[in-house]
Amino acid sequence: MAAHNSTRKATPLRVAVVGAGIIGLSIALELRTRGVEVAVYDRGLELGAGVTIRAAGMLGAAFEWAAEDEQRSLAALARHSGMLWPDLAARVERLGGGSVEFSREGALVVARTAAETEWLESLAAACQARGLPVSRLTAAQLTRLEPGFTGQARGGLLLPDDQQVDPALVLQRFGAALSRSGVALKFGRHVERIVGGQQFLMPDGERFDRVVLATGAHTVPGFVGPRGAPLQSGLPEPIPVKGQMLALATVSGGPRHVIHTRDVYIAPKSRWTLIGATVERGRADAAVDRDAIARLRAKAAELVGVLADAPEVSAWAGVRPTTPDDAPLIGETAIPGVVAALGHYRNGVLLAPATAEIIADQIIDGKVSPMAVAFDPRRFDNGGEVPHSPSGAGLDS
Ligand SMILES: Cc1cc2nc3c(=O)[nH]c(=O)nc-3n(C[C@H](O)[C@H](O)[C@H](O)COP(=O)(O)OP(=O)(O)OC[C@H]3O[C@@H](n4cnc5c(N)ncnc54)[C@H](O)[C@@H]3O)c2cc1C
Repeated sequence: MAAHNSTRKATPLRVAVVGAGIIGLSIALELRTRGVEVAVYDRGLELGAGVTIRAAGMLGAAFEWAAEDEQRSLAALARHSGMLWPDLAARVERLGGGSVEFSREGALVVARTAAETEWLESLAAACQARGLPVSRLTAAQLTRLEPGFTGQARGGLLLPDDQQVDPALVLQRFGAALSRSGVALKFGRHVERIVGGQQFLMPDGERFDRVVLATGAHTVPGFVGPRGAPLQSGLPEPIPVKGQMLALATVSGGPRHVIHTRDVYIAPKSRWTLIGATVERGRADAAVDRDAIARLRAKAAELVGVLADAPEVSAWAGVRPTTPDDAPLIGETAIPGVVAALGHYRNGVLLAPATAEIIADQIIDGKVSPMAVAFDPRRFDNGGEVPHSPSGAGLDS
């Protein structure tokens, strides 16, 4: 890092993390494990104030990027992060005293039409080209894996490396793990302004050597110099992408695997079955649209019949944080010593351990991983904006 590298040998490095979502918490744990003194600030009164608790918890490294040619760096980061998850889950479960329902059952991708069969083929070919394990399944094989399937499924794929967790349990275990590890969790602290200088002065008077911004879809705090002059982080404003989701009671004959079609996904947990999600770019409100929820349920029930009548437990909206190029911002900002871990869009849960590893390497060793180069937070800080389409609501997985 350019400045603030006066790491004193005698006293441990002190880092403030702003944001207690999956990204901030993963970074806090990684830093603490490597001997750093860490405090986490969050505007919420308890864990779960952000979007993480509203996520489906799929760790879909293969499904999300197998066919994405334009985002190869992200595919590599996702794959690496997926490989770090088993260890992270075990660590958080051990330190946090309970399960996060980490599952390695793999994900099914299902085709219902001729066009979707073609899509499935291209996905399988892309997996093979990238060395991602994949098996093609006939309709009969699919039904053996998921006896609740209706006759709609023509064929499918098994992506054995895709995993899942329960995000609410992950947050809960992280909270316990961090407290036990000596990380200060400061709730009810909306950090609006941080004073930079030799160290960073937080609104509660605490001083830190570095600051990590992990504020999800919210605007990051402002920074001023010791004499009050504004400091520019060069970060783009977060772009909100609203997602609505439905939770159904677990019913007999319900699905056992994560299931993707082209326009809906089903993620069964022990306490409920999640069906998602809308993708509404530019929207940051929490309103639940009953028509959108009904469409999600209908699409899921076309595939797994018992979902038509399963009682609804809850429905909600969350706001995914993204960036002008839909890739995250990971690394040092234009303010030396201030590090961003933002814009993880629809895969923040999946990408959390790799993000934490990159940020910890950078803060502690000043090392920029080759994997992180494409996610430099300063890539938009040149006056030129990468255009994005402010399209309206749509259904997507
Ligand atoms: C419907 C839906 C389904 C999803 N499914 C998946 C999935 O299956 N797999 C997956 O990987 N991802 C999924 N996602 C995306 C995932 O939820 C996000 O990428 C991830 O949770 C982002 O984590 P975060 O820590 O950056 O943000 P958040 O969880 O939002 O945390 C940010 C925190 O910062 C705090 N904060 C903000 N500003 C301040 C401030 N100034 N001062 C103090 N605190 C502040 C907030 O209170 C919040 O707690 C889904 C999202 C949605 C909406």
